[in-house]
Amino acid sequence: TPKLVGLTGGIGSGKSTVAKIFEILGIPVYYADARAKWLMAHDPALTAKIKSAFGEESYLEDGSVNRAYLSKKVFSDPEKVKLINSFVHPAVGSDFKNWASSQTSSYVLKEAALIFETGSFKELDFVINVSSPLKVRIARVLMRDSHRTEEQLNQIIDQQLPDEEKNERSDFVIKNVDNKLLIPQVLKVHQSLISSDN
Ligand code: ATP
Repeated sequence: TPKLVGLTGGIGSGKSTVAKIFEILGIPVYYADARAKWLMAHDPALTAKIKSAFGEESYLEDGSVNRAYLSKKVFSDPEKVKLINSFVHPAVGSDFKNWASSQTSSYVLKEAALIFETGSFKELDFVINVSSPLKVRIARVLMRDSHRTEEQLNQIIDQQLPDEEKNERSDFVIKNVDNKLLIPQVLKVHQSLISSDN
């Protein structure tokens, strides 16, 4: 099994951008948020738990997740958010391990906004944090997502650990500020991860 490496960073930090650079180097990347959405619709054990906790209405007739219903029913209540997370995070955790065990590279990446917050760091060998100043991140996201308001964005930011804390807890930090080049930083981390093989 390859080494398991987390790639995290606050919203708008640039972790997807950094993930794509690693992919160009031939490193397989597991996109945890997208995969979580897929599993919610396709993992039978997970759909069963969600239905029994939140009702059959959690799914539409075609089997897809009833996002409108769930966001109304769950995301306004912190206890329910905890409950749904306690179903989804372990499902993602084991799906990731399963996926990783079929890869042949020296390491693989798990790209996720929440790695320290969910405890998933415990199952990883290393963590990389993509670090950007809050102001820059807010500007990037407002530019990228026309549907998002600054208020919604602040809500998301409040659920994430502060950047400084993530830097301290990470093995590698990639700084994504406009005057810093990303590719040389990614190459340096890549070299370290590969040489930690021996
Ligand atoms: P999210 O948590 O929302 O998924 P993210 O951390 O994956 O965000 P990205 O999507 O990679 O962040 O970057 C946010 C936006 O900022 C994107 O539109 C991206 O193209 C842009 N961006 C990221 N880094 C840079 C950079 N160094 N220079 C210019 N634009 C950048």
